[in-house]
Amino acid sequence: MGGDKDSLSEFLAVAVDAAKKAGEIIRKGFYETKLVEHKGQVDLVTETDKACEDLVFNYIKQHYPEHKFIGEETTAACGTTELTDHPTWIVDPLDGTTNFVHGFPFVCVSIGLTIGKVPTVGVVYNPIMDELFTGIRGKGAFLNGNPIKVSTQSELVKSLLVTEVGTKRDKSTVNFATNRINSLLFKVRSLRMSGSCALDLCGIACGRVDIFYELGFGGPWDVAGGAVIVQEAGGLVFDPSGNDFDITSQRVAASNPHLKDVFVEALREAETHQPSGN
Ligand code: MG
Ligand code: MG
Repeated sequence: MGGDKDSLSEFLAVAVDAAKKAGEIIRKGFYETKLVEHKGQVDLVTETDKACEDLVFNYIKQHYPEHKFIGEETTAACGTTELTDHPTWIVDPLDGTTNFVHGFPFVCVSIGLTIGKVPTVGVVYNPIMDELFTGIRGKGAFLNGNPIKVSTQSELVKSLLVTEVGTKRDKSTVNFATNRINSLLFKVRSLRMSGSCALDLCGIACGRVDIFYELGFGGPWDVAGGAVIVQEAGGLVFDPSGNDFDITSQRVAASNPHLKDVFVEALREAETHQPSGN
């Protein structure tokens, strides 16, 4: 077979097929009554999450039996798998489960492939809005086959911020999250929460939103697909402190290159404005 790039295109094609098949299950379930279980106080899981993960897992395993696999629901059931340099498929079978349960249309399947721990192939598919985001390292990012770019905004005051508040509801976590938002709201144009970390990253990639951060999300499956899509759309993915992004850290920020420094500074100020005694 051909060189590196050809095999990356094949990996993407398999991931797209898997995402479309999982998307059919999500679309069907979206309009039906859901059987909901709790993973935490407000952290939900449905039979659709599990069915999609089984489907994606089996489909990829058929094609690449030697590759490794990290899935949100497999991890929930069997514990953490360490990320190695091996080609590893990292899958969120349904990102935006709360949206799914409520019939709010920001739901997706996210599939990312890391090679040497580097996000290399990404697919994020929203079957309700029929939006397929794809990216291959070094080969660009696309929405339904059309090239996408991050926004050109350079002023924080004109920027649309997207973030999430996660699933922890202890007083300290909620206070930190809302105080951070309080500080940032004085500096940006407005704030959105889509309910899906993967779709937030894709929003950065296609320029719908300008800056994004999330702290304490579920795991690498929330960011593995979206990270390469943002980077290939000309954006930056980084730790909210401004340091390098670590896919295993449950901390992420993203923006276009013009906004990174001012955004990191605003996030730093938001931390220093946290009241003590939380
Ligand atoms: Mg998720
Ligand atoms: Mg999920």
